[in-house]
Amino acid sequence: MPLRSVKPLILAIDDDEVARESAQVLLSRWGYRVNLAENGEKGLHLMRQNPPDLMLVDLQMPGISGLEVLAGVREFDPTIVCVMVTGHATLQSAVDAMKQGAYDFLPKPFSPDELKHVVGRGLERRFLELEAKELREEKARMEANFVTLVSHQMRSPLAAVRQLLEVMVKQSLGPMPPAYGELMDRAVARLDELLHSLNAWLAMSRLAESGIAERRAPTALADILTALAQRTRLEAQAAGQEVVVEGDPGEVELAVDRETLLEALYNLTSNAVKYNRPGGKVTLEVRVHPYQVDLSVSDQGPGIPEAEQPFIFNDFFRSKSPELKNKPGTGLGLSIARRVVKAHRGDISVRSQPGQGATFTVSLPR
Ligand code: ADP
Repeated sequence: MPLRSVKPLILAIDDDEVARESAQVLLSRWGYRVNLAENGEKGLHLMRQNPPDLMLVDLQMPGISGLEVLAGVREFDPTIVCVMVTGHATLQSAVDAMKQGAYDFLPKPFSPDELKHVVGRGLERRFLELEAKELREEKARMEANFVTLVSHQMRSPLAAVRQLLEVMVKQSLGPMPPAYGELMDRAVARLDELLHSLNAWLAMSRLAESGIAERRAPTALADILTALAQRTRLEAQAAGQEVVVEGDPGEVELAVDRETLLEALYNLTSNAVKYNRPGGKVTLEVRVHPYQVDLSVSDQGPGIPEAEQPFIFNDFFRSKSPELKNKPGTGLGLSIARRVVKAHRGDISVRSQPGQGATFTVSLPR
């Protein structure tokens, strides 16, 4: 492991010169690099300049106490191992130090062997912790990149297959036996679901790294509502549904990341169309209040069972109810919407009585 290829660095803080010198002699003899400080203030300064792997801290020193040094170390980097060095009279503070995160304590006077033993064990602990931390970070990096990588790599070939299938469905190169028609349509539908999922995963991973707050710019509420209604109408018409817009956005402007917010709102309206009853109505409503704006999307579908309502905003949640779970979906639409709304310091909520549709409301600060 690369961390072990350099000699471990030990910082000893002690106001007693003899103690410092003997620490220096012994620790360097055992192959460690050593820094020394005669008080807590200098010790903390040295620690920040050149972070050590392990610190030997005298508990009783004039000026900053050993316990205060310990608190400073924990705040700076909790993986630095602290061994408190103490006289008999301060046993209680050694116990306190352990409670506050010291790794061990060494009562004075101690033998070279005792020092060697505690330093060896402490360093072992430090390296294990660093290793575990590195593995955790590596895992998080891999998880974050994996979805993006896989989705990117899969998207182009799938889009190509989709186009090829389109040629066949349209029978552009000549007629196809009728029995294949339905199979082709099913293949296209499944492929579209897959492409939709990939896009949702990509949107999700982009959200994790994007700076919505930085892209916020004044945008007319009326413009958001019009864009939302237009796209919803397209989807609704295709499904034989009607879209109604209620409320007056007036001249209100909101500081938002327009594209991302619209995508979040589309997730709500396309759910409303997807889960609506046949021929149902989708209502978009805007309400302007002194300090906030409420935008709600309602449908006339079966609604959301009360037991499921607390979970619908979770990643990958999909209904267990038989009439809903056959609809295509990723279970990511609402969780993306919630992230986007939260990044705008807003809130999203749902109201639904089974059998009477669902209403999703996004509240944004003005
Ligand atoms: P998806 O629609 O892709 O499954 P979402 O995150 O958008 O994922 O929604 C999660 C779940 O919440 C859906 O699977 C569905 O069970 C429920 N849901 C969302 N919107 C509605 C709605 N308008 N009516 C009924 N159920 C809904």
